[in-house]
Amino acid sequence: MSIHLETHGRFASLGETFYSRVRPEPLPDPRLVSLNPRLAAKFGLNETDFRKPELLEIFAGNRLPHGASPLAMRYAGHQFGHFVPQLGDGRALMLGEWRDEEGTLWELQLKGAGMTPYSRSGDGRAVLRSTIREYLCSEAMHGLGIPTTRALCIVGSDEEVYREQIETAAVLARLAPSHLRFGSFEVFYYRGQHEPLQVLGDYLLKHHYPQLSDEDNPYLALFREVVARTARLIARWQLVGFAHGVMNTDNMSMLGLTLDYGPFGFLDAYEPGFVCNHSDHEGRYAFDRQPAIGRWNLTCLAQAMLPLFAEEPQAAVELAQEVLDGYEPAFMAAYAQGMRAKLGLQTALSEDHRLVTDLLHIMAANRVDYTRVFRTLAGFRREDKGRSCKAADEFVDREAFYHWSEDYAGRLAQENRRDRERAKAMNRVNPKYVLRNYLAQQAIDRAENGDYAEIGRLLALLASPFDEQPENEPYAALPPDWASALSVSCSS
Ligand code: AMP
Ligand code: MG
Repeated sequence: MSIHLETHGRFASLGETFYSRVRPEPLPDPRLVSLNPRLAAKFGLNETDFRKPELLEIFAGNRLPHGASPLAMRYAGHQFGHFVPQLGDGRALMLGEWRDEEGTLWELQLKGAGMTPYSRSGDGRAVLRSTIREYLCSEAMHGLGIPTTRALCIVGSDEEVYREQIETAAVLARLAPSHLRFGSFEVFYYRGQHEPLQVLGDYLLKHHYPQLSDEDNPYLALFREVVARTARLIARWQLVGFAHGVMNTDNMSMLGLTLDYGPFGFLDAYEPGFVCNHSDHEGRYAFDRQPAIGRWNLTCLAQAMLPLFAEEPQAAVELAQEVLDGYEPAFMAAYAQGMRAKLGLQTALSEDHRLVTDLLHIMAANRVDYTRVFRTLAGFRREDKGRSCKAADEFVDREAFYHWSEDYAGRLAQENRRDRERAKAMNRVNPKYVLRNYLAQQAIDRAENGDYAEIGRLLALLASPFDEQPENEPYAALPPDWASALSVSCSS
């Protein structure tokens, strides 16, 4: 089995204004650490194919597949609020575009395949630890139904790389319809190059937003759609308790995908101001700041796209402003709708907002486990006002929960849905399993000792996070005490 990429890639055909041609750096003695069988199957491949030297060499970066024209994308970005004029793929490269069996084109990237012109002081490598985290989390998000880049496989090696300590290098293969970022626009705007902005806009419209091409102002329509997708994406993050960790504009996708997994974290104990990235001393990317940061980032994108909106600068600003003003209502609507679903409500009433904030308030006060409370809430019985509901067991202050339960039971009484039906619906939106930090860490610890089985186990588990999986019950348990001491930072 071999791999054939498109010989004339769409992105490559844009020309070298947008990227630099690169070659992957060979990885000595590569070995397959993990393969995502569900994604491989989309391309007609299976585990046996990946165990053969040919594919292994390709995904290690030691051999180019047919049709490859490897490139590193150019972009800039606002990092922790400060503009950095040149970033770019410093340790990722795009091998080319790959058509799946349904005919859909995907950009195939290798992350950790060596230095590029954008590596700055970095070594172009990714450590095994960080590839496992990105691999598992991309697929966990996909399992949750949240838009994301995908992950196909990890190839590991004994090559040493230096971080806070010596670790080993690995290469992650990831896929997305496009890896374009907000920063892909910013890089040209700040250089005063307006023509490439238009080329990028046209490219996105043609290949990724064809439905917008006939709009009066297609670039503005494109921006409006990115605003809407970003609002919905971040609402999904908040609903499931996901903190991205590094929401710099170079990590924000033009397709509304979750992109560039680094020091992310899922909430264990509910803490609104949770900061998962230990390098984020000011808490800029705290869990509860993500929605506002989404808007801040979109404002940066708007600025960079201004020349496309209108010739007259003031008119462009006004158009952008109006679209930006749609962000918050879009976020609120998606969040409110999602919260109602999490509570098993079918209708929308004005008092629902109170019900949600009251619940979140007692959840924070009791530092309850975010995932477990929502999951166990499916067992709420209207008749006994939650007295037999397992969610109560999660609260130190059970009375606070019972007090809220009175309101919840009252609210449920306004809908005539049976408990059983509501429970089923709730279990379809409140996951039983999420990629808790400690679970990822256990898989990493074992992998660093040469045992990769736990990665595959988690991958399979997280592909169906809403299903009861009795054999996997321990993965839904409260995290152990040592979990809260785990530290993740940008260094990866
Ligand atoms: P991130 O916040 O991980 O998305 O990375 C920010 C920027 O740093 C991007 O331009 C990356 O390509 C670059 N970068 C991160 N780690 C490395 C590395 N080990 N070698 C080269 N570039 C890196
Ligand atoms: Mg990045």
